[in-house]
Amino acid sequence: MPEMPEVEVTRRSIAGRLDGARITGVRLGAPLRWPLGTEADSLVGCHLGAAARRGKYLWLPLAAGGRARGGLLVHLGMSGSLALLASPPPAGRHDHVDLVTDRGTLRLTDPRRFGAVVWAPALDAGMAAKLLAGLGAEPFDPTLDAAALHAALRQRRAPIKPALLAGDVVVGAGNIYACEALFDAGIDPRTPCRRLGPARCARLLASLRRVLARAIELGGSTLRDFRDAHGAAGAFQAEARVYGREGQPCTRCGATVRRIVQAQRSTYFCPRCQHG
Ligand code: ZN
Repeated sequence: MPEMPEVEVTRRSIAGRLDGARITGVRLGAPLRWPLGTEADSLVGCHLGAAARRGKYLWLPLAAGGRARGGLLVHLGMSGSLALLASPPPAGRHDHVDLVTDRGTLRLTDPRRFGAVVWAPALDAGMAAKLLAGLGAEPFDPTLDAAALHAALRQRRAPIKPALLAGDVVVGAGNIYACEALFDAGIDPRTPCRRLGPARCARLLASLRRVLARAIELGGSTLRDFRDAHGAAGAFQAEARVYGREGQPCTRCGATVRRIVQAQRSTYFCPRCQHG
C-alpha cells in the first residue's frame, strides 16, 4: 500500500511541473472508490495550483478565470500510482483517470481500484472535509512538538504502536515506520500511551521524523519514473532495524528481534533495546 512517504515523493515529482498547468481534457475509466463529484467537463479550462498533501491524500487546487474553483483530492488506495506523462500511451485497463493538461497527462493507474479522485469546493468543505476528518497532525508540522504529542497521548490507555498506526494523533506512521520509529526511540511498542512522559514523547517525535525523512529520501531515489508507488517502503525495508527481522539479532545489541501481533498487525521490536 502506498504510504505517506510514497505520496509525498509523488507530490514532489508533480508539484512543480503541474503548477499553472491548464486542463484540456478529462478521461474517466472504470468507477473508483467514490465518484468524481462534479461533471468531468466542468474541469476543462481550469488551471492547477501547487499540489499539497494531507496524510496520504494529495490536493490539486483548481482555479478558473483567476478564481478558486475547489480542487481534486487524490488517494492512491491500495495499489495506485500517479504518473505525469508527456506523451501517454493509450489507456490500459488499470488506467482509470487521465487529467490531460498543456504540461502533460496526469494518469492514475490503480489495479485494485481502491483509489479515488474526488472534486471538493475546498480542502475543508464537501467530500474533502469528510475524508480528512479525524486525521491527526502532520509529522513535519512545526506546531507539532513534544508537548503537543504528550498532550494527545496522555489520556490514552491503548499501546503506543497501534495508536501510532491509527493516524488520529499523528499521520504517516504506517506499519514499517511505526515499528522503526519505536525502535529508534527505544520505546516498547506495548507501552500504554499515557505512560510516555514528555522526554520520551520528544524522542518518539524526533525518531518518527528521522524515519519518515529517510523513507522520503529513499523514495526520491527509487521512484525515478514514479510508476512504482511502493518503492519507498521497499527501499526503506532493506535498511530496517527491526521490521521483518523476527528471529534475527538486533543490529544494536544482538538480542533476538521479536514479532507480536497488535490490532491484527505485525509488530517487530527488540526486547532489550526497547523499554515499556
Ligand atoms: Zn536491541
